[in-house]
Amino acid sequence: MSKKIYTVSEASTWMCLICGWIYDEATGDPEHGIAAGTLWADVDMNWTCPECGARKEDFEMVRI
Ligand SMILES: [Zn+2]
Repeated sequence: MSKKIYTVSEASTWMCLICGWIYDEATGDPEHGIAAGTLWADVDMNWTCPECGARKEDFEMVRI
């Protein structure tokens, strides 16, 4: 299997449905241990919204 090459243009963004905080796969969340370029699927399932503490299931993919 070949590894899919990931480009910033394909990055998706996820919005917290509770507070509106945006997770951008291209920038990640380095302050909370999520490196830039980390796919949403690869974000730790124990990660929570830095603003309100919502869990991953409270986020929804958005197109900006
Ligand atoms: Zn939130």
